[in-house]
Amino acid sequence: MSNPTPHIGTVHLVGAGPGDPDLLTLRAARLLTQARLVVHDGLVEPAILAMAHPQARLVSVAKRRAHHTMPQEDICALLVREALAGNDVVRLKGGDPLVFGRGGEEAEACRAAGVPVEIVPGISAANAAGAAAQIPLTHRDHASVVSFVAGQCKGLSEQDWSGLAGVGRTLVIYMGVKTAPQIAEKLMADGLAPDMAVAVIENAARPEMRVLRGPLAALPALIDDNKVKSPALIVIGEVTRERDVALAAIAVEARI
Ligand code: SAH
Repeated sequence: MSNPTPHIGTVHLVGAGPGDPDLLTLRAARLLTQARLVVHDGLVEPAILAMAHPQARLVSVAKRRAHHTMPQEDICALLVREALAGNDVVRLKGGDPLVFGRGGEEAEACRAAGVPVEIVPGISAANAAGAAAQIPLTHRDHASVVSFVAGQCKGLSEQDWSGLAGVGRTLVIYMGVKTAPQIAEKLMADGLAPDMAVAVIENAARPEMRVLRGPLAALPALIDDNKVKSPALIVIGEVTRERDVALAAIAVEARI
């Protein structure tokens, strides 16, 4: 008699959104409350982890060995090992798993090992920041193109950003706090006006959110003087001025 086929668990790559539990999808919330194993990274808020099943094993892959994240191969190996052992895994990631979240690599590793994968979208930081700061990423009069770019150091100087920002376009930069001086320089060297409007949104959609505004030339000072920390997004484009309209309306409402 042949052995029964061993049960293989499913890896659910789940977007946790920007941090507010109210901004989880219903599917994400349901999976979380049912999960027996949750593998999460550092951007996931404790309030969201608290929604996990009381008996769930919570595994953080964020901070190991003096603040180093677990290497990506080890995370993939962990997901595959658990699924092959028959465990369903909720792999919880900040924002959307497929926007600068390395969800693609984790899905590939699972598929290569014969592990079924489900991907549950989450509200990405750009969407959350736009809504929370009342800055529309596109606007009939001001922007019909929006680009998402990673601003971390690696390879920044070799990348071609020409055409990503300017009149009629919105550029959203993830992971750009540390490299803001190089980013501003790069964009101005490409011909972007030094007075192009910029917004920095720190901790979007969380109670401690800050929205800072200024011209592109002052971006590094804006970040430095205000001691902006990650997680923060940089939004470049005319649409950021729409926040003035929103704030003026709020001021009028407050006076009424
Ligand atoms: N997958 C995530 C992005 C991960 S990259 C998503 O879809 O949102 C990490 C970067 O996302 C941070 O450096 C920051 O630029 C941005 N970010 C994530 N959460 C944020 C938040 N609440 N407010 C502002 N920026 C945020």
